[in-house]
Amino acid sequence: MLAGLLLVCALVACGGPKRLPPLATTPRPGPGVQDDATPPAMPAPVEHPSPPPIPWLEPAEPLLLLGVGLLEDQRRLELRCEGAAWVRDAASGRTLAALAAGEPLLCRRDGGGVAWEAGREQGSAASLALQPIDPGFLVSAPGGSYRGEFLVIPSPRANGLTLVNNVELEDYLKGVVPWEIGRPDASRFDAVCAQAVAARTYTISHLGARQAQGFDLFATVMDQVYKGAIGEDARCNEAIAATAPLVLRHGGREIQAYYSSCCGGTSTTVAEVWPKDDEPYLQRRADGPGPGGTAWCADAPYYHWREAWSARALEGILQRTLPEYVRYMAQAGRGGWAAPTFTPARGGSADRPGALRDLEIRRRTPSGRITELAVTTEAGTYHVRGDRVRWVLVPASGKPAILRSALFELELVRDGDRLREVAVRGRGFGHGIGLCQTGALGMAAAGRSWREILAHYYPGAVLEPVKGRLR
Ligand SMILES: [Zn+2]
Repeated sequence: MLAGLLLVCALVACGGPKRLPPLATTPRPGPGVQDDATPPAMPAPVEHPSPPPIPWLEPAEPLLLLGVGLLEDQRRLELRCEGAAWVRDAASGRTLAALAAGEPLLCRRDGGGVAWEAGREQGSAASLALQPIDPGFLVSAPGGSYRGEFLVIPSPRANGLTLVNNVELEDYLKGVVPWEIGRPDASRFDAVCAQAVAARTYTISHLGARQAQGFDLFATVMDQVYKGAIGEDARCNEAIAATAPLVLRHGGREIQAYYSSCCGGTSTTVAEVWPKDDEPYLQRRADGPGPGGTAWCADAPYYHWREAWSARALEGILQRTLPEYVRYMAQAGRGGWAAPTFTPARGGSADRPGALRDLEIRRRTPSGRITELAVTTEAGTYHVRGDRVRWVLVPASGKPAILRSALFELELVRDGDRLREVAVRGRGFGHGIGLCQTGALGMAAAGRSWREILAHYYPGAVLEPVKGRLR
């Protein structure tokens, strides 16, 4: 399945998001274009001159492309290209219009398709592509400029449009690595290399994971933060090139190369955090010993942290987050952890938590992370499992959007029977599985190579070339 997902034609064949052919093999307008496959309502094809294919540039194997979901459920989209570009029917490859440099392509939802307007031309298609005539030109949407091309599709689960950036794997990584590990100095170059391999591997092993949304990966922390061509970093690009085409494999398959900001001194296994199966190369282990016997990530800003709420402020937050938690756990596939999610008091409803009475850590994982936090309100007791405690105990400031980690101690201040203040004293930032980014930076600064860093965080995984063509 994974290998199949790497292939452009296989992706289309398996019913995944309609993938555009690679730039070098895009069907050209002219003789042979499948006009008879076009619905009668379509406007007549516009002929545009284009150069003949250059045989020696034809790819030997499919280019590794992925679709990154940039925007969903948009009422309208205004897209541009910094150079001349084609507007194409994404399904057939038929050219619909030529777009001049900087000229807007306007799109809006039209029933089950996409209505478009470019200069004096307009029409409608099931899905639409904006392809630069030169792959060096960037395409842009409000909020960013991107390498590769745009695909516009009707949002599968909403009434608007979804904007997908179809981009080559290595170009995608250029828009990911600096936002994931930052822009460290030359002394920590090997940490950037390790991050590049982890991100490349994560990408390959998650291709098709968001198929129901019409693309491969989100451009956010839901997958990997991706900001396109804005803010690329020369050292990060160098690390990406230096490690290409390597990915981490175990048992012949790309590994689930999870990584997070700071493990707090001890990494953890998958099953301790999410209702998913463990992997042999994602182990619970001390992140060290680093300098002076401390953890490699001990200098990280959030190695130690504290978050506090007045009981009233937390009570307000819980009115939203506890019912959300119960709904989340009720969704399919989360049953392994789901029993029981909520034990009602007499007449209590999970939808209306009401007054906060108490919080209690009932169980921890061997790495010290919370396995079950009991939150008792007048409605009953909510049994909050694993990493979801971070979505329930949301910082009052909204920054960060969820609690930094599930590795914490609870501090309760009471007035008699009444809670007055709730605080958590924690360690680390993120889920703590796989590579610890701040630990990797510490290891690199101490002279460890990127291969050593990867062997420390993904024990037993091997480095092998990715399947498919990078360029
Ligand atoms: Zn760490």
